[in-house]
Amino acid sequence: MFKRFLKNNNVQGYRVQQLYDQYFKQVISSWDELTNWPKDLREKLKEEVPFTELVNFTEFPSSDHKTIKVLTNTKEGFPVESVLMRNKDRITVCISCMSGCPVGCKFCATGRMGLNKSLSTHEIMDQIMYFQRKLKATGEKITNIVYMGMGEPLLNLKHVSESINLLTDSNVMAMSARRITVSTSGYIPQLEEFLKKDMGVNLAISLHAPNQKLREKLMPTVAKLNPLDKLMEVLIKDQKKRNKKITYEYLMLKDITDTPECAKELAKLLKNQIVLVNLINFNKVNGISYEPSTRKRIEGFKAVLDSRGITNTLRYSYGSDIKGACGQLASIS
Ligand code: SF4
Repeated sequence: MFKRFLKNNNVQGYRVQQLYDQYFKQVISSWDELTNWPKDLREKLKEEVPFTELVNFTEFPSSDHKTIKVLTNTKEGFPVESVLMRNKDRITVCISCMSGCPVGCKFCATGRMGLNKSLSTHEIMDQIMYFQRKLKATGEKITNIVYMGMGEPLLNLKHVSESINLLTDSNVMAMSARRITVSTSGYIPQLEEFLKKDMGVNLAISLHAPNQKLREKLMPTVAKLNPLDKLMEVLIKDQKKRNKKITYEYLMLKDITDTPECAKELAKLLKNQIVLVNLINFNKVNGISYEPSTRKRIEGFKAVLDSRGITNTLRYSYGSDIKGACGQLASIS
């Protein structure tokens, strides 16, 4: 981010640090506020580097005001969505790493869009800084970031990693890596590359089915290329090394993934790992025929996991009235 400008203009180290301080920590709202830079250098920056790459930010607050979905565009006009969620002592921002997604999971609104583009580091950071500037007005800050919006983060690994480096660098955003979660549908080679980087962030796996056959039905693109047994091997091996909990996202689809048999199979699949299973009830999406699970089925499913010692939680789905909930990000306002 800003790298080319800084290099081409031979900007000295202390000026670079001033820029990072003002932009990321003081959260300025325009280049005009970068007043500790000399005017001529600031004017040049203004001419050459847009303050944000993303444009046309439009907010859609939920009726309970706990969630705000923001719809924005890349300069090519492609839609990008991010969501801010308030929960007790946390302010979490869910960001996109792509406009659309090439993976095409059958239950996902974003997947139906196909891929428009993978976002640049600047475009990823723009989503975060938009909310950071908004929160500055009330003296608040983002506490947690999840890469769970549009797109598959591990298919845009370079820019996702660069953005994580900016977030966690003590000279830039200085966020704790433990407050950042990257969610993936499970591309094995890219996952291995990501794990090798050892960035200290949390990992969430969009599992959604307890066996290969069902996974192939729901998530054919990723599941056929990346068999579940191989994926588990990689995750178990890494957990033995790092001893770090893995979160598994599991979508409750009525009569498909919410059965007692699925619950038993899921518990068996995860029995030797340190896990948290996030059960997410399906949010209705226009044009997708799956149905949400029932309360009774979810309780039964949870009971099976509980009885087998699998830590689990039913994730409250934020912002479904603004189509900002899981699997609903598809630039529908
Ligand atoms: S669930 Fe994730 S990986 Fe699958 S299509 Fe949707 S955004 Fe892409």
